Amino acid sequence: MPDIVQLLPENIANQIAAGEVIQRPASAVKELLENAIDASATEIKIFVNDAGKALIQVIDNGQGMSETDARMCFERHATSKIKNIDDLFHIKTMGFRGEALASIAGVSQVELKTKKASDPTGTYIEIENSVVKTQQPVASPTGTSIAMKNLFFNVPARRNFLKSNASELRHIIDEFTRVSMSFPNIFFSLTTNGQEIFHLDKGTLKQRIVQLLGNNYSSKLVSVQEDTDYMNIYGFVGKPDTAKKTRGDQYFFVNNRFIKSAYLNHAVVNAFSDLIPKDSFPMYALFIDLDPSRLDINVHPTKQEIKFEDEKIIYAFVQSAVKHALAQFSISPTLDFDLDISIQQSEAVSMPFTDDKKSAAASSSLYKTFTQKHQAHFIESKSDLQHWDKIQGPVDVDHQEVVAPEAEKAKEVEPGSAISQKNETDQKKPGEELIQMHNSYIVGQNQSGFIAIHQQNAHERILYERFNNAIKGKPIPSQRSLFPSVIELTHADAVLLNELLPDMQLLGFLIETFGNNSFVIQGTPGDVLQGNEKSTIEKMLDQYKHFSNELKFSKREKLLRSMAWQQSIRSGTTLSQKEMLTLVDNLFDCEIPNATPNGKPTYLEFRKEELDKMFGR
Ligand code: ADP
Ligand code: MG
Repeated sequence: MPDIVQLLPENIANQIAAGEVIQRPASAVKELLENAIDASATEIKIFVNDAGKALIQVIDNGQGMSETDARMCFERHATSKIKNIDDLFHIKTMGFRGEALASIAGVSQVELKTKKASDPTGTYIEIENSVVKTQQPVASPTGTSIAMKNLFFNVPARRNFLKSNASELRHIIDEFTRVSMSFPNIFFSLTTNGQEIFHLDKGTLKQRIVQLLGNNYSSKLVSVQEDTDYMNIYGFVGKPDTAKKTRGDQYFFVNNRFIKSAYLNHAVVNAFSDLIPKDSFPMYALFIDLDPSRLDINVHPTKQEIKFEDEKIIYAFVQSAVKHALAQFSISPTLDFDLDISIQQSEAVSMPFTDDKKSAAASSSLYKTFTQKHQAHFIESKSDLQHWDKIQGPVDVDHQEVVAPEAEKAKEVEPGSAISQKNETDQKKPGEELIQMHNSYIVGQNQSGFIAIHQQNAHERILYERFNNAIKGKPIPSQRSLFPSVIELTHADAVLLNELLPDMQLLGFLIETFGNNSFVIQGTPGDVLQGNEKSTIEKMLDQYKHFSNELKFSKREKLLRSMAWQQSIRSGTTLSQKEMLTLVDNLFDCEIPNATPNGKPTYLEFRKEELDKMFGR
């Protein structure tokens, strides 16, 4: 019997390897772009014909290759980027496995022209099906041009598998977007069938994002930036009103490499949770930098998935950083800043800072959040309930005394943040001349134009925060009824009400069980009209059941939301001048003045400059 084990010919091995690295034109685009970046190029141009099926050419002004390197780079496992296994754990470049060019050469016709700055002439190589067809010296500028033609010309099964040009081009643009977004200091252009569709001048990250994702983001990006010893995060999130109905503009980069992470996506979405409707997707482009040794490098580089040494910490950082960014633009509260206790105590968070980073990091608000532990939220709670009384009846007197010193303390510790946040809100707040329209809207002039407040949405927000504070330890006083009323419920409702009684007491409802599914209402918060107690509670229960399929909310959260909705003044209610003023005051003292708990807007702003524009001025 003859031996039957044989080595695969080189070109077959490359074709098989290519299946993993080059699935479609877009994967080749990604590999070639990353090589140009690794070669320190500052200008990278791509040309594609027929969505990359006919041609993909990348021209860079990077360091180029010597004659020997130009030949070598097409060999499998040929790489200049790692020399030993240790390098794997410190890898900073985009590629390192030395597979891309070998794979590309195995499944297309490649023309390479390259020259190093120190060499007088460059090298031209033509290679097809892993076989060198031509090699000769050539006049060339410093840098590299690689053209790959007729992808999969020799693997018809794969070629047939490619999608329509529109769909393959879409994939190319996706890869182009991900790579060019993470290198705003590099010029990129993309030309398809002779038409330049992207021309990205060097600039800031913000400019790059706007170039790529569109002008409508230009005034809608909120900067995220936190530095710690463990990791840095920076980038932008879109203001809540840019959230879209379809998943789209969401980008995570770890050490400048685009990744997909449902887990981290969740962290961001969570930070937005109160600000946007449940079924919409916030925009973000966030960059996480951390020590490569804290990542699992064994994950395949083309798979865009990544493993962190400690996912939970990253999750908490991302969520806090985004929340904090939104809060600084007074888009969101930082109320529930308290982190998992295990995370607060973890080494990465409590670790002593190195001297050089200490001063930079000490001014980072995230650092304060972690180090001041439970006090973290005090800055944002400055306006707790200060004016609730005006519209809401009985005041809890000692509240004022508790709040004032906290506010003072906040100013001492972090004057910038406390004041700037206040200023932003103040600018939006309208002056004292208010007009009610259609018994539903309150309209008033503010510094930049005018603002239309939805009275019911606004009141829902006010009540929600008021109730939230009540639950957190400042119960709303109850007014005892002169004639306690009895309410009879179905068995199911009685069970429900029983569960809610302790929390309802904090909200000012004194209710006692009376046996057989009956309850006595002994007292209600001051603003519930005497005589209306029964219907108030029935409506509240109704609304609560409405929320019952919202599994993500706790019982308490559902109660707060139901109560806020149920008790808010309805559209169609005429308000006096004084009532409008109070409502506006209370709204702008809220932690999140601009949205209801469910994410509906409480007001819309009309800026003078935009009005002028609309009128052609
Ligand atoms: P890897 O990027 O993983 O090292 P590749 O097959 O993509 O593997 O590239 C092989 C080698 O060819 C690289 O390590 C690099 O030395 C060289 N190379 C590839 N593209 C370029 C380029 N545009 N400019 C300069 N050198 C390049
Ligand atoms: Mg590479």
